[in-house]
Amino acid sequence: ERSKLNRLRDTRATTLDGESINLMANIEGPKDLPAVKSANADGIGLYRTEFLFIGRDNLPDEDEQYEAYRAVVKAMPSKPVTIRTFDVGNDKALNGVHSRMEPNPALGLRAVRYSLSEPKMFLTQLRALLRASAHGKLQIMVPMLAHAQEIDQCLALIEKAKAELRAEKLKFDEGVQIGGMIEVPAAALSLGMFIRRLAFLSIGTNDLIQYTLAIDRSDEAVVHLYDPLHPAVLKLIAGTIATGARYGLPVSVCGEMAGDLAYTELLLGMGLRNFSMHPGNILEIKQQILRADLGELAPKVQRILKMDEPARIREAVERLVA
Ligand code: PEP
Ligand code: MG
Repeated sequence: ERSKLNRLRDTRATTLDGESINLMANIEGPKDLPAVKSANADGIGLYRTEFLFIGRDNLPDEDEQYEAYRAVVKAMPSKPVTIRTFDVGNDKALNGVHSRMEPNPALGLRAVRYSLSEPKMFLTQLRALLRASAHGKLQIMVPMLAHAQEIDQCLALIEKAKAELRAEKLKFDEGVQIGGMIEVPAAALSLGMFIRRLAFLSIGTNDLIQYTLAIDRSDEAVVHLYDPLHPAVLKLIAGTIATGARYGLPVSVCGEMAGDLAYTELLLGMGLRNFSMHPGNILEIKQQILRADLGELAPKVQRILKMDEPARIREAVERLVA
């Protein structure tokens, strides 16, 4: 089965009706590059940089970060590499650094909130990212945005980092694209303020589901209620994809749903053209896309989006999978 899949490695992920789909990889660092290569991913859709930090007592300095980012960019010539700024806090605690007891970590100081509360550490990361951008097609992505002012603060810090690098005569890509993750329901319901400020969006379905359904995704006692097909979740995902398309802003999905064969047709029918997933899932998702017809799927998915009875939704989504 694997060897059959491996034959798809150099085939474009094109649907039966000729739409080309980008299949990108989620990685945690340079160690994942062999898997990305063997799947021949169209780029890196999510580089989770917090894994550079976790489980150690000191923080990597600017040069160490720069090396880790540059290694990935250089390994992906002419392909986009989307590097996410730290998503620490909650389930991904930093040794020593993020040790404050929080009443509710999932709702606390995590991701962009944490980065903005540690501007020195954030600036170090932004400088390292910008320096790495001189070596390829690097894009910076900010996790867990909910407020316009958070985006503005990030953009201002990026401008500050650029000004420093210019003054130090260090190279970076002046046109580096900045994007944001849509993983808080508030963000998915106020896309205009994101679209006006950012160059691309990526839907983090893992957190979007967690926050929409108020289910802590690390709590076993409630995990059976964590449902990607809840009608509220589907509306937020579909709305984000459609709004991005309307404004010409690229949208991807980088949560687990993108790499799950049960949702491929559903996401295609919503209009998704950029999937990012564990590299080990890319070829089987590609195989499924090669059998899909968007002209057939789109109206069926539109009907599903009008349903609000879970059993009917589940059955209709299962029927999409040919
Ligand atoms: C997500 O929330 O869907 C996501 C991709 O980010 P993470 O799983 O790292 O929080
Ligand atoms: Mg997330």
